[in-house]
Formats: sequence, structure tokens, C-alpha cells
Amino acid sequence: MRVVVIGAGVFGSLIARELTKYDVEVILIEKNLDVGWGVTKANSAIVHAGYDDPPGSVRAQFCAKGNMMYEDLSKELDFDFKRIGSFVVAFNEEELEELEKLLKQGEENGVPGLTILERDEILSMEPNLNPEIKYALYAPTAGITEPWMVAIAAVENGVKNGLKLILGEKVVGFVKSNGRITELITNKSHYHADVVINCAGLHGDEISKMAGAEYVPLHPRKGEYILLDKKLQGLVRRVIFPTPTKISKGILVLPTVDGGILLGPTAEDLPEDMKDRPITTKEGLEKVREFTKRLVPSLDFSLTVKTFSGLRPESPQKDFFIKASDTVKNFVNVIATRSPGLTAAPAVAKYVVEELIQEKMKLPLIKKKDFDPTRERIPHYSSLPIEKWQEEIKKDPRAGRLVCFCNEVTEKEIVEAIRRGARTLDGIKFRTRAMFGRCQGGFCMVRILKILEKELEVDMSEIRMKSENSWVVDGKVRE
Ligand SMILES: Cc1cc2nc3c(=O)[nH]c(=O)nc-3n(C[C@H](O)[C@H](O)[C@H](O)COP(=O)(O)OP(=O)(O)OC[C@H]3O[C@@H](n4cnc5c(N)ncnc54)[C@H](O)[C@@H]3O)c2cc1C
Repeated sequence: MRVVVIGAGVFGSLIARELTKYDVEVILIEKNLDVGWGVTKANSAIVHAGYDDPPGSVRAQFCAKGNMMYEDLSKELDFDFKRIGSFVVAFNEEELEELEKLLKQGEENGVPGLTILERDEILSMEPNLNPEIKYALYAPTAGITEPWMVAIAAVENGVKNGLKLILGEKVVGFVKSNGRITELITNKSHYHADVVINCAGLHGDEISKMAGAEYVPLHPRKGEYILLDKKLQGLVRRVIFPTPTKISKGILVLPTVDGGILLGPTAEDLPEDMKDRPITTKEGLEKVREFTKRLVPSLDFSLTVKTFSGLRPESPQKDFFIKASDTVKNFVNVIATRSPGLTAAPAVAKYVVEELIQEKMKLPLIKKKDFDPTRERIPHYSSLPIEKWQEEIKKDPRAGRLVCFCNEVTEKEIVEAIRRGARTLDGIKFRTRAMFGRCQGGFCMVRILKILEKELEVDMSEIRMKSENSWVVDGKVRE
């Protein structure tokens, strides 16, 4: 039996990996040249505690459960996850009422450890917060991670267990017979399919429509961000939310797993035809500065490293749409994956395989005896104790050659990223953090291009930043 998963975001990657635990052929098709580059790439990276989601919603069903799975998942797949906790802060009694509602809602959703703190305790835990803050809802189970790395790690582990990954192919149609999909058509090939799982993120509604299945319409809801330098490490130690509004969880301040400070996101509904345009605007970034300064008055925006935006796949019902289709018997939708999708994804992956495929579709999946749940990260040599690093350099001098100075990434790490499938500059960036530091590739990009050229045995002009059209060099200025 062959299951085809469309889309290698955090949902598709974790579902595909979950399926490799069973004796079944699994194919994951992604239109980009690497995994985790859709919605999964640009978000707040928070593993939410689970108090925001209305009890009874699909979001509530999976958020707190997914959160609880992150500890083990991060150990198995060796990615960064820090359970740092979060505050939702209130400046007055009216906002306190909202915190009390969230606390109650969180308890209904099974979120452990929620408590409301008062000013002195808040400031002793987070001394850089605005002293006008009076109350905070403290959620100790909230965490932070690297979202694209969850997808990369899941796929690497999946491939180790037999997953077939197809990159750079876009699903453009289906062949059906007797109300079932028999084949998937991409822009390059055809694939026989017994079961199809639609995890196409912002384009999930179009895929479902194309398959003739039920769907909810999706539009992008843009969130703009500012990333501040690691010099500010420790400015806040937890995720700091304002009191939420009806529209969003608000514009927040949080530490990133590697020591930077992230500010954002805004929440702006865009028309359906802007699904592929994650742009930032002067107004959006100004809003981020204004709102976050209210939370942390000492924020220094001159330490901005990068600005970027992400697009949430938003639907009118504001909830995930995770269903085995009633009209197309072998089709499953995992769409409308707005926040807290990153958090919920591990629990959703289990649900899709165990409840929808095995129980609802009644497909017998037999567990493999030799499934290996582990994957190891690319070693970051400069973080090793000096004696160990020296030993590694003796074994391979490339482990001592720094290529990216901001994040101290060596040539050996870059070569390892290529060995694991990186074919583009962004592929290297998201696997190693080279080009992710203060200079954003200003110093190291050319050196990385040369390593890619040598390892892939191609001319530099053939190497792309990310997509087929994003060329970096055009050719030689002179021979
Ligand atoms: C601003 C913002 C903030 C957020 N903050 C958080 C947070 O802090 N915590 C949290 O839990 N969640 C958060 N989320 C939500 C989370 O990011 C998403 O729920 C999650 O990343 C969605 O993953 P996905 O796999 O559904 O989509 P994607 O990552 O977009 O994956 C879908 C993939 O399908 C591919 N694809 C599409 N069409 C085709 C096709 N025709 N053929 C082949 N491939 C195709 C795409 O290229 C893409 O790679 C946030 C989202 C945003 C935008």
C-alpha cells in the first residue's frame, strides 16, 4: 500500500515520519527545493501551552497534547526545544478579567500549572518588563523551538526509515476512479496512490478542490516580525504576550532558541491571491516596534538583524480542518493549519495515522519491528569543549575552518548539510545557521557558494538561493 503526503511543512513531515513506523510505502511530495519552507519557516516558533484555544475546538483537542509530546520528540529527533514558560501580561483590572478567562479555558483544555502572578513576582522573574504591568498569566509549559528544524529532522528520520522524499515537484491534478484517487499528477511525473494526505498549507484548499473533496476556503493572514541581535540575550527569558484581542494573540516579545530576541507578529488579513507574497511594510514593522516597546521599554531596535513576515493559512471558522473526506474515500485533509499548528502537529500526526487511516478508513497498518526513531543533528563544532573540538579537527581539518563567523559554522557542517540534501543557500542556512547571524551572509555567502560548487560538482551560476528562479550569480565577469 502506498500513502502519498502532499507538502513538507511541519504537518506533512511529521505525518510522513509517523507513517514510516508502519509497513507501508510512504512518499512525501514538496514543490519547493527543500522541506519546511512554507508557513513552517516564518512563525513565532512557540510551542504554546494551550490556553488560547476555545474548548471543544479542534485546536484545543491537539494543542496541549502536542505541547506535551515536544520533549520526547526533540530528544528522538535531536532538535532544540526549551520549555521556558510564557506570560500573558495585563496592565489593568479589565485585562485581568481576560487573564482569568484564559486560565479557566486553559484548565478546561488540560493545561497544567497555570497561575496568575502579581507585579512584584513578575518583575523578579522578568526585570526588564514594563513596571506598569500589574498581572500576568504564567504558563510554565510553553516552550520555544526552531520550526523548520522540526520538519527537517522529521524528514531525515523518515528517510532513514524508508520515506521517499520528492522535492521540486508541484501536485497539479489527480486521476480518480469510482470516487477514489488512483494517481497524483505533478508538473514532472505521475504517482500511483492508495491514500492521499493533503498537507499543502496555504494551498490546501486548492488541492482539496482539485481532488473533488470538501474544503474550507483559505486566505493568508500576514504576521510581520523583527529579529534582534544575540547581544540582547537574557532581555526576556520567557515568551511575553500582551492580553490577546479577538483578532490575534497579540504582538509579543520572546527569546529565540539561539539567543536572539524576536518581536511580532502583526495580524493582517490579505486577499486569497496573496498567498505567496510574504512582504514586510514600514507600517507593519512600526506597529511591531510600538507594541513591543510597551511590554519591554528598554528594547533597542538599532540591534535589528532582520525583518521578515509569515502567512497564516486562515479560514472563516478559525479552526483546523482535519478530516478524512466523505466524498473522496481515500483522501485526508490536514488544512487551515493556523496557529497553534506548530505545537499541535505531533499530536495531529498520531491522530491522522491512528484514528483516520487505521480506524476510520479501516486500513490495516502493521508496525515495523525495525523502526529507528532517532536522528542526530549536524554537530556544531565550535560549541564543543576545546579538547573535543581539537580531536575533531585532527580527524578532519574542515571541522576547524570557520566559514560563518557570526554563528561560528565550519566547513565540515556545511559539507554535512549538503550530504543530507541541501542544494541551495537557504538549504544550508536552515540546516546549519550559517548566513543567519548579524551579517546575514554578507561575509560568508560567497564561501558557501564555493563549497556548494565543489561538493555538488556544478558551476556556481547553477546554484540558487531557494527557488528555481532565485539565481545568485549570473556567470564570470572575466575569465
Ligand atoms: C505569523 C505566524 C505565526 C505563527 N506562530 C505560531 C506559533 O508560535 N506556534 C505555533 O504552534 N504555530 C504558529 N503558527 C502556525 C504554524 O506556523 C503553522 O500551523 C504550520 O507551520 C503550518 O504547517 P503546514 O505544514 O500546514 O504548512 P506549510 O509549512 O506551508 O507546508 C505546506 C507545504 O506544502 C507545499 N505545497 C503547497 N502546494 C503544493 C503542491 N501543489 N504540491 C506540492 N507541495 C505543495 C508548500 O510548498 C509547503 O512547503 C504561526 C503561523 C504564522 C504564519
